[in-house]
Amino acid sequence: MKDFDIYQTLALRTASAESTATPMTLLDAAALGLSGESGEIADHVKKILYHGHPLDDETRDKIAKEIGDILWYCAIGAKGIGMTLAEIAVMNVDKLRKRYPDGFSTEQSLNRPHG
Ligand SMILES: [Mg+2]
Repeated sequence: MKDFDIYQTLALRTASAESTATPMTLLDAAALGLSGESGEIADHVKKILYHGHPLDDETRDKIAKEIGDILWYCAIGAKGIGMTLAEIAVMNVDKLRKRYPDGFSTEQSLNRPHG
């Protein structure tokens, strides 16, 4: 998880002064950015599914870059709530381990508590 901390430090280095002004502006920037970047991935998938675009190396590279953009906004958002990206990653893995102790199952997915 140390790599996440290194990544977060490097990501924050390239955040604008406006977005890093306060914890709330970090969170604002993350929320808006995550929405935008998710839309960019959805657009690639739409083109593959409905416009006949191939999932070739070029498209794969474009999607990978969008996933990277999402990671960048996750790093910014984590900082906005005073957490490291590594802490978020550990929290997420712990949550999933409790939800699916033996790996994913449809039964557990259907009957899981929300959260
Ligand atoms: Mg992008």
